[in-house]
Amino acid sequence: MHRLPLHTRIIIGLILGAVFGVIFGINPHKLEISAKTQSEAIENWSEVSFIKKDTVLKSFGHNDQLGIIKYFKSTKDKKDLILKVKLSDGTEKIFENTVSVEKVKTIGVLLRPVGDIFVRLLNMIAVPLVLASLIVGAASLTDLKHIAKIGGKTLGFYALTAVVAITIGLACANIIQPGNMISPDAKERLMETYQEDAQAKIEQNVDLDLVSFLVNIVPKNPFKAIADGDFLQIVFFAILTGVFLVQISKEKAQHVINFFAGLSETMIVLVEKIMIVAPYAVFTLIAATVAEFGFGILQTLIWYSLTVVLGLSILTFVEYPALLKIFTKISVIDFFRAQKQVLAVAFSTSSSAATLPVTMDVCEKRLGVPNKIASFVLPLGTTVNMDGTALYQAVAAVFIAQVYGFDLTLTQQLTIVLTAALAAIGTAPVPGIGLIMLIIVLKSIGVPEEGIALIIGVDRILDMCRTVPNVIADSLACVVIANSEGELGEIKPEAEYEGAM
Ligand code: ASP
Repeated sequence: MHRLPLHTRIIIGLILGAVFGVIFGINPHKLEISAKTQSEAIENWSEVSFIKKDTVLKSFGHNDQLGIIKYFKSTKDKKDLILKVKLSDGTEKIFENTVSVEKVKTIGVLLRPVGDIFVRLLNMIAVPLVLASLIVGAASLTDLKHIAKIGGKTLGFYALTAVVAITIGLACANIIQPGNMISPDAKERLMETYQEDAQAKIEQNVDLDLVSFLVNIVPKNPFKAIADGDFLQIVFFAILTGVFLVQISKEKAQHVINFFAGLSETMIVLVEKIMIVAPYAVFTLIAATVAEFGFGILQTLIWYSLTVVLGLSILTFVEYPALLKIFTKISVIDFFRAQKQVLAVAFSTSSSAATLPVTMDVCEKRLGVPNKIASFVLPLGTTVNMDGTALYQAVAAVFIAQVYGFDLTLTQQLTIVLTAALAAIGTAPVPGIGLIMLIIVLKSIGVPEEGIALIIGVDRILDMCRTVPNVIADSLACVVIANSEGELGEIKPEAEYEGAM
């Protein structure tokens, strides 16, 4: 196995993980009910009822594992709560003083900590890498004019790809109309099951106040920004520091630049070492996600999920290759070949930030982008450029509007283009934040925010999918900008790059 190139091993890990997850999937008809002194796994119930003082509060059927768990968790006063379980063979079980009701975990889920350590290691690298590489990158761009030119091109390119992405999302959602494919019964079930989760996200109170958004990019304390992993603030601080480093005496500046260049290089070496365990980590991450995933809910939301995936595929396999052809001479096949590792890590971690160290390594060592451009464009892109998320937010907003029976006007659709672009910029490059920022888009077009309950169940899997174009777009911008500056080197053959690992 070790003779195979690393990216092949990672892809094998991904596929085997999915198979393992299916084999050791969580049984949707099994529950672990624990009381103070005993715990018991029950299987194949026909009805589970929650009873208090002889009154049946709520009953659930055979397919309601998640509903049962969530109802138990959301019941505040569990004193005198009785669970009556009718089994399919006609017998009944009564549970008093229950302390927990959970799914029965399988080996597929129990291996997850291995993957979690891998994701944490990548995240551990991301913040120092963004800080150090951006300071060095900005300092090496000689003067303010040069930085403004590269920065302007980068942001312009990101804005262009985001608007196209959102338009693709809107077109897919308006043509397929996934919101009209869902039955009122399914809508009610989804709303009931995920109401609590939706409320928790709504309570985070995200708002699109452009002025305070801009004000908040300026950190009061950069060390706090680093500690909190606030990427926008770190980017702001790092660029300013890099820009003005070149204005102090050369002798002093060189010490600081050397320090951050050393830190940045060390982080890159570290990521190459961490990637050695990637095949195993990816295996456990995918196995756990597949094992835990409720395929029943995927069936209910199949049209919505397909619409998102179709939009993301058009974005990745039509828009990006077209832009690559227009702006560079790189072959599309070579570009995507070089992205295999980036793709697998983004998909399995659902985090652009965790993938950044890998993207950086690939852009510099494989795609021939000079360090000063990669270290400027990539951290910026990881933070602000999220085409996949923007597209997903557009589809989700139209889907929820359709389910609620809203007929969106052209003005509302244009509002989606604007707010989804901004919401995606504000989305932190970590798992699941795109869904929270969607609330901003819903608010802007007057669609009830509670509607996010409809899509929470499939968010994890769609998050994995949208993170892929999020990171591919960063690499794309990197080669486009490097090419426009006449600084793009040759693509290195796979074997040579593998040698670095
Ligand atoms: N997981 C996405 C990313 O890191 C962000 C999101 O859409 O939730 O790129």
